[in-house]
Amino acid sequence: MRTPAGFDCSYFFGDYYRGKNHEECRLIGNAAPPHNWSKDLCKICPVPEIQRANSCPDMILTATVERRFLGLQKRVVIKAYCQKNNRAVADPHIGCGNCHALPQIFLGEE
Ligand code: SF4
Repeated sequence: MRTPAGFDCSYFFGDYYRGKNHEECRLIGNAAPPHNWSKDLCKICPVPEIQRANSCPDMILTATVERRFLGLQKRVVIKAYCQKNNRAVADPHIGCGNCHALPQIFLGEE
């Protein structure tokens, strides 16, 4: 579903049927304040970009909201885990690299 920021995100849910205006992030969920979700986070969240770059169905994302500078600045911190290979994924844009290895030409090896 398209977020208020205009990007497609599979974790965003909006219910506008018959005058309702309910929106939620099903990745961050109902985290307690000050780590709660608000729709302004969709503007700075890396998840839509990650989903465009990597559609691996085995990669599980978790998200937490961090506040810095006395709570004035917010950011969404993403962690990724490969449930097929049972290991953390360093860069979710790329994936763990086990199933979809980069071609040799990109690795600079012959
Ligand atoms: S905060 Fe991120 S994961 Fe949550 S709905 Fe917005 S773009 Fe998607």
